[in-house]
Order: sequence, then structure tokens, then C-alpha cells
Amino acid sequence: MLIGGIEAGGTKFVCAVGDSSGNILEKTSFPTEGPKETLQEVKRFFSNHEITSLGVGSFGPIDLDKESETFGTILNTPKTKWKQFDLLNELKKAFQIPIFIDTDVSVACLGEYKYGAGRGVKSCLYITVGTGIGAGLVQEGEIFRGRNHSEMGHVFIQQHREDPYPGNCPSHKNCLEGLAAGPAIEHRYGAKGIALSGNDKVWEIEAFYLAQAIMNYTLVLSPERIIIGGGVMKQEKLYDLIREEFMKLMNGYLMIENIEQFIVAPALKDEQGVKGAIALGVNR
Ligand code: ADP
Ligand code: ZN
Repeated sequence: MLIGGIEAGGTKFVCAVGDSSGNILEKTSFPTEGPKETLQEVKRFFSNHEITSLGVGSFGPIDLDKESETFGTILNTPKTKWKQFDLLNELKKAFQIPIFIDTDVSVACLGEYKYGAGRGVKSCLYITVGTGIGAGLVQEGEIFRGRNHSEMGHVFIQQHREDPYPGNCPSHKNCLEGLAAGPAIEHRYGAKGIALSGNDKVWEIEAFYLAQAIMNYTLVLSPERIIIGGGVMKQEKLYDLIREEFMKLMNGYLMIENIEQFIVAPALKDEQGVKGAIALGVNR
């Protein structure tokens, strides 16, 4: 039985066909154009495969309220062509099979939970630090959702004393995403993260922000493991800097037995999104 998975990202779409063990048999990716052109590519890829169900991890915000008439519709995205696009129903029209949808980051969390760094724990949080910041929680195999999906990238944190940068979130300025996502780093220093590798202060401040958010997520959600991925985390030194800052902030309030096992890197490289999408398709 083959399952289809789509990682529907704001910059690129990844489509794959796999099995319920998380093995990928074939995969393709293409840039995200307007919905019409992009869905044409999606249809072209899957027309060569006999899939019995499909899982989708989509960029958002997206309506995930099952009671809502617009369930599965992309909401207020800055990508104007996709605003109010009824992604789920358009896919349903194209493929007459069961289709399951959730946010890109929650689906990536499911991928790591099932096949990656979250194997063996009951609950894990996956955070991506890239063009934006987002996080998803999986507990006992289920993606957590409230009235709609969480927006954990937009939490407020304390500003670093040596950081005068006002933040660049269009809605909140200095929320976590506004201070610590890739574009905030680039805007603050006038250079891309990768070019700032040797500047220790940059990563000290970055870790200061991420550790605060992770402390808050830990206190609110109590996950058994926290996996941090995304382009900015390619600066591998961040893992230890975040662990150290996190322990300082926690100050013994909660017992963290093994910080190396608590805050970890993803295990699926760049495939947690698409593998999670396949897992979402298998899930039910
Ligand atoms: P997206 O969030 O769009 O899916 P990524 O997770 O790849 O994409 O994140 C892109 C962001 O990560 C960009 O802002 C980029 O500058 C930053 N980035 C990519 N590689 C590195 C690196 N090696 N060091 C620091 N930042 C990086
Ligand atoms: Zn914000």
C-alpha cells in the first residue's frame, strides 16, 4: 500500500510516495508558484503512482477547525495568490482518496516522532528556526491542536541587553520570530546567518532568545524531548549554547536529567516534512 506525502512549503513543494514504515520510494520537489501551476505539478507527480491516501503538511496559517466550512483553506498568508485558497478541497477534487492535512511544522514533528529523533518518547516538540519560527507538538502519535493550530513562533521574550534591534515581525515587531528567525538576523547585522558563523556574539544572542522560548514551551507543554531544526540551526554550536542558557534559565526548577537528550537536533535531515506527511497519510 503506497501513501503520498506533500510538504507544501512557502518556497518549495516536496512530493513523495512512500510506505507506512517511512521508506520513500520516489520524491520530487519544485518551487512554489501560484496555486494553479503548483497543483498541476503535484498532479503530474502522483499520476504515476497508485497511492491510497495522502498526507499534507502545509505552510499557513491554515484553517484546521474540522467544524469550519473553510477547513483546509490557507488563511491570511503574505503569499497573496494563496490567500483563501481551499487547498484541501482542491486536492480532494484531484485525487479521490482520503486526504489529511496539518501545518508544515506539526507534520515535521510527526515525521521526527515516528521515524527520527522523537522515536521512543511519548511526546516531542519540533521547532523550526528558518525564514520564520514555528513549532508543533506530537503526543502519543497525535498532533496537538487547539481551536486551530498553535503559533509558537510569536511568543514574547525578553530582549538581550546588548541587542538594540527592534524586531521585524509585521504584527508584533519583537516577538521570538521578529528577533530570532533568519531574516531578523540578516536585517540586524546586514549579512546572512551563514556569513556570520565566526561572530560569537551573534549566536550568544540567538541562543538567548531561543532558550527563553524553549523554557516557556517546556513549562507550558512539558514535552519529553525538544527537537530544533531549520536553516538557522545549521549553526551547530547553537545546540550547546541553547542547552547552557536553558539550564541557566530553568535554574533547577524542573529536573532535566539529560539535557543532551532533551534538546536535540533532527534525525531526518531535510526529510522530516515529507516523511511526516506520509505518516499523516498512514496515521488514520
Ligand atoms: P524555510 O524556513 O523557508 O523552510 P530554512 O529552514 O532553510 O527555510 O531557513 C532559511 C533561513 O535559514 C534563512 O534565513 C537563511 O539565512 C538561514 N540559514 C540557512 N543556512 C544557514 C546557516 N548555515 N547558518 C545560519 N543561517 C542559515
Ligand atoms: Zn510575531
